[in-house]
Amino acid sequence: MRITFYGAAGSVTGSRHLLEAGGRRFLLDCGLVQGRRSESDRMNRDPGIDFRSVDAILLSHAHIDHAGSIPTAVMRGFAGPVFSTPATRDLCSILLADSARIHLADAEFLNRLEGRRGSRIEPLYTPEDAMASMELFHTVPCGREFEPFDGIHVRFLEAGHILGSAQILLSCREGGRAVEILYSGDLGRTGMPIVMDPDLSPRPDFLLMESTYGDRVHETHEDSAGRLAGILDSTFSRRGRVLIPAFSVGRTQDILYHVRRLYESGSVEPAPVFVDSPLSIDATEIYRMHPECFDSETRRLVAGDEGPFSFDQLHFIRTVEGSKALNGVREPMIVISASGMCEHGRILHHLRNSLGNPSDTVLLVGFMAEGTLGRRLAEGAGKVRIFDEEIEVKARVEQIGGFSAHADSDGLYRYAETAGGSADRIVLVHGEPSQSSALCARIREGTGRTCSVPARGDVLDLGPSPGNSGRGRG
Ligand SMILES: [Zn+2]
Repeated sequence: MRITFYGAAGSVTGSRHLLEAGGRRFLLDCGLVQGRRSESDRMNRDPGIDFRSVDAILLSHAHIDHAGSIPTAVMRGFAGPVFSTPATRDLCSILLADSARIHLADAEFLNRLEGRRGSRIEPLYTPEDAMASMELFHTVPCGREFEPFDGIHVRFLEAGHILGSAQILLSCREGGRAVEILYSGDLGRTGMPIVMDPDLSPRPDFLLMESTYGDRVHETHEDSAGRLAGILDSTFSRRGRVLIPAFSVGRTQDILYHVRRLYESGSVEPAPVFVDSPLSIDATEIYRMHPECFDSETRRLVAGDEGPFSFDQLHFIRTVEGSKALNGVREPMIVISASGMCEHGRILHHLRNSLGNPSDTVLLVGFMAEGTLGRRLAEGAGKVRIFDEEIEVKARVEQIGGFSAHADSDGLYRYAETAGGSADRIVLVHGEPSQSSALCARIREGTGRTCSVPARGDVLDLGPSPGNSGRGRG
C-alpha cells in the first residue's frame, strides 16, 4: 500500500493524491494547480499521472483546486468512475464548465497577443470536455457505504467545508489484515452556517489531512457577524454601498445567510442586496436543491419559508445590462460579486466604480493570494490599476477573516486528536510549508503520533500494514 503526492503537498492547490490499496489505484481528488501562470499551466497540462491506469477518482468536494483537472484526466485516458456526493456532482457541473470557459478565453487572448506568429495555444480543456467528464460521475450520499471494487469499501463523511464536501474513508485488506485510510479533503469549522459540522467519528489506521491554517486561529463567527453589522451600519449611514468580492460557491451563500440574520434581528437597517454573478446565482440554486446537506438551524429556516437565500431585499442579477444599471444607483446597498480575489469578472467594474468614493466600503472576506488585486487592497494600496486605469483608493477597505470555511489550527489539532487518535501515522497536505510544519510539530508533541509533511513527487510506502514510513519528509 502506498501513496504518491502529485500536488497540494507543500502548497494549497492541485490536490491529487494517488492511493494504491487493495490492489487498486485511486486518485484522491483531481484538482487544478493555481498560481504563477507558466508554472501552473505546465503542471495542469501534464500532471505526471498515468491516468489510464487509475481505477477510480474519489472526489472530496467541488472546489476547482480539488476537481478542476478531471476533464484533463479524461482527455488523457481516464475512463473509470468518479465517485462524489450528489451535491458535489451538481456543483462540478457548473464549476467545470466555468473553468473551461476561463481556459478558452485565456487561450483566445494569448493567441490574439501572438498574432499569426508562433504556434496556436490550445485551451487546457473546452466546455465540451468538461461536459464529457460529467458522464463518469457516480453519486453516493454521506454516510452510505459503497463497494467500488470487490473487497474495497468506501464511505463519504461530512467535512463541513462547503455544500456536499466530504471526508473519504476507505477500508480494504492489506497483508492479511483490515486497514482503514481516512482523507480529510478540506475540513470546515464546527458551528459554520448552512452545512453540518465535520464528522469526527472515524478511527482510521492512517490519516491524510489538510493543513491550510495549521498555524492560525480564526476570529469566532459571532465576532465576525458583529463586525459585519458595524461595517454595514456605518456605510449605510454615509449612504454608501458595501462591495463584497466573494467566491461563488460557499462564501457568497454564507454572507447571504449572515446578512439575512442581521436584517431579521433588527441589528442593521435593511438595504437592498444584489448578488451580481451568474455563477453565484447558479451555485445558490444548487444549494437550494440540497437540503440534505443543511445543518439543523438552516433546515428550520427552510421549513419556515423559502430558506436562507430568499428575503425581501435580495436581488439576483444575471444580465450584463442589469449589472451596469447598478452603477447609476447612489443609495445604500450591498453588492456581492465574483471573482473572490478580484482577478476577473464583474467585481472589477464595481471596484472601478466604488474605490474612488469615500462613502463606499470594500469588504474583503476571503483568502487573497499573493499577486492578486484583492491582496493589494488588503495590504492597503493607495492606488490600484483596473483595466489599465489608475484609481486612487478613497473608499474604506475592511477585512473580516472569521468567515473562513477552513478549520483553524485548533480545529485541525482537535481533528488529529480525535479522528486521527487511532492512526499509526498522520500525513499533512494542502498547506504552505510554514502552516503545515507548525501543525506537524504540534501534533507530534501533543499526541505522540508519527506525523510528516510530504513534498510533491514523494512516495509514501505504507507497506503491507500501516506504520512503515517511506521517503516522505518528517
Ligand atoms: Zn475547498
